[in-house]
Amino acid sequence: MKVLRSIDELRKGLSGERAAGHTIGLVPTMGALHEGHLSLVRAAGDRTDAVVVSIFVNPLQFGPGEDYAAYPRDEEGDVKRLDDAGASFVFLPGADEMFPPGRSTTVSAGRLGEIVEGAHRPGHFDGVCTVVAKLFNIAGPHLAFFGQKDAQQVAVLKRMVEDLDFPLEVLVCPTVREPDGLAMSSRNDYLHDSQRADALALYRALRAGVAVLEEGGDHASAEGAMKAVLAAAGGVTTDYARAVDPGSFGPPVAGNPVLLVVAARVGPARLIDNVLWESE
Ligand code: AMP
Repeated sequence: MKVLRSIDELRKGLSGERAAGHTIGLVPTMGALHEGHLSLVRAAGDRTDAVVVSIFVNPLQFGPGEDYAAYPRDEEGDVKRLDDAGASFVFLPGADEMFPPGRSTTVSAGRLGEIVEGAHRPGHFDGVCTVVAKLFNIAGPHLAFFGQKDAQQVAVLKRMVEDLDFPLEVLVCPTVREPDGLAMSSRNDYLHDSQRADALALYRALRAGVAVLEEGGDHASAEGAMKAVLAAAGGVTTDYARAVDPGSFGPPVAGNPVLLVVAARVGPARLIDNVLWESE
């Protein structure tokens, strides 16, 4: 496994892979890697010859007052975990390598980046699109792997790939959860024991929403059930609990799968989770 910090080095390494006829899989991350991230790395290893994992805490996707400075970083541990998981390249650029002084161009997620999660984090999805577009251009992957955990990110990036004609396929991997249902997240590191117990309310809320839909309830009732669970939980402040269409994040479309999405603050962490519901 090669650990590279410059765009040039990565490009050179990958041109060797391409010359050998190898396919390239890209897994973009912000590090502090857990089993959720590693599931993407393994999925990439199953489907492509050379797996590139980027670790970059992207300043563009954090708003003022968010946790950019505090975001957990564990370079040494991450490199070891990626070696064990079978990555071929780790790309670890500094902030100046990705965004040198004088940079000006950004990629806008458009309307899809302004609703639901985007309404609470203005500019977040533009920051995601800008860094991911750069990573696509740098690595030139055949396949790029993302987690369902960040459902709106998936919708935004699939849209970007289609709208801007990136010659690659986006693969979405299932959300990896702790045994008690808590979705794995680097931000779970912020929680102490009782806050971690409070955080279980997010998954409980999603299950309550699913139960309403299973019983034939409408989307508003499902949202109501999710909000009620979150409101009843101690130490949890709800940002939103919504039933949306998984592609547009607008209202669900009759006969199509419904995505239930929640975001809430628990202690110092802002957590998101989602479940896709498909009627039989
Ligand atoms: P992050 O480092 O949080 O930016 O995440 C990097 C990638 O890992 C994104 O595609 C996330 O959706 C994915 N990811 C994060 N947590 C999980 C999880 N619990 N299960 C599956 N994928 C995840």
